[in-house]
Amino acid sequence: MSFESLGLRTELLRAVSEKGYNNPTPIQQQAIPLVLEGRDIMGGAQTGTGKTAGFTLPLLQRLMSSTKPVKGRRNIRALVLTPTRELAAQVAESVQTYGRHLPLKSTVVFGGVSINPQKIKLIKGVDILVATPGRLLDHVSQRSVDLSKVDILVLDEADRMLDMGFIKDIRKVLALLPKQKQTLLFSATFSGEIKKLANDLLKSPALVEVAQRNTTAERVTQVVHPVDKKRKRELLSLLIGSENWRQVLVFTRTKHGANKLAEQLDRDGISAAAIHGNKSQGARTRALAQFKSGKVRVLVATDIAARGLDIDQLPHVVNFELPNVAEDYVHRIGRTGRAGNEGEAMSLVCVDELKLLQDIERLIKREIPKVVIDNFEPDPTIKPEPINKGGRGRQQQNSRKRSGNKPGASRNSKGPYKGRSNNQSRSGNRARQGA
Ligand code: AMP
Repeated sequence: MSFESLGLRTELLRAVSEKGYNNPTPIQQQAIPLVLEGRDIMGGAQTGTGKTAGFTLPLLQRLMSSTKPVKGRRNIRALVLTPTRELAAQVAESVQTYGRHLPLKSTVVFGGVSINPQKIKLIKGVDILVATPGRLLDHVSQRSVDLSKVDILVLDEADRMLDMGFIKDIRKVLALLPKQKQTLLFSATFSGEIKKLANDLLKSPALVEVAQRNTTAERVTQVVHPVDKKRKRELLSLLIGSENWRQVLVFTRTKHGANKLAEQLDRDGISAAAIHGNKSQGARTRALAQFKSGKVRVLVATDIAARGLDIDQLPHVVNFELPNVAEDYVHRIGRTGRAGNEGEAMSLVCVDELKLLQDIERLIKREIPKVVIDNFEPDPTIKPEPINKGGRGRQQQNSRKRSGNKPGASRNSKGPYKGRSNNQSRSGNRARQGA
């Protein structure tokens, strides 16, 4: 299927071809015609599927077909809400890229930077506004935005917005929008809360889904390396160094942990930067740019900071610590294997995290192969400890481990890591090179 056959106007086709896209991705094939028809959408789309173009292209087209001669100030006719600054910036960039041959204006507002330049742009007038909910409400209270003319609302990564506690802000924004509008809601996962929001908001929505819910990206090879907590950093440096990985995104649970790990890796001679919510927007943008350009090999991130990062062909994602919320695992590993590229997601799992691992495997409905790296066998006498405050109790898994007879995977049938492992010869070989 071609972009032409989706009924997009020539200015958009030109922009898409300049961007180098040949064919629409599955979510684009499904979503574009429905959005063009004016339907509400409930989109189950993982990161990396091309969903941004899936809603942006038809949104631009709809705005063009309803463009009235602009007299005086433009009205905000499309509003895109995103959970994080980085995602907002990326969506805004896509709006600019795909709309470059159209006479529409857009801007982006998010927190962490001065509000005044944003106000000036808003007051001049835009057709499309991309925003994070908190900063948008700041603008509402300072009267720099009028949301009463919005025709199209997009909630991008709605699950994450709820996880981040934005539901009240979202409801406040919704109350300012016209009742009659087209709404597109995208979410990687569907909790009861998301379904409720969708019920309240969407009118006979078309369901658009490209991957089974709560499943992990198909192209991503996943592996768990059981290891003691205090040896994780050593193992990570070894894997990065010996396999000569040039670009690795590493996840930690806490901001402090991210800083500490980045410093330690730097000391090991592996250039690293940390990105998290306590860093200024400037520092976050700089770290991301250095990582993208290859100046920094490792970007250590917390879940919130990493949301929305779009780094082309990111080959490696490492969970230095498993996330507290199983859904975050899906988001994290969605950073690799994007838009048709193969990726590898590796989790360093200590005895404290076995319950989290179980939750993840239940969510993604598959068992992740376990590969013990030689000389990093977990000490079976170490007892699990609760994770952070209010950490969940650890349960020992009672299943069989078969990793011992694979190259590079040591035979260690004792201890709590007796998780059954799937066919893992590839991972095992890689592990051997790494060990
Ligand atoms: P998204 O899921 O919207 O974050 O998009 C993930 C990545 O896929 C981005 O780097 C896009 O530039 C890229 N992408 C989007 N649509 C296409 C397409 N039709 N062909 C190739 N790459 C695409």
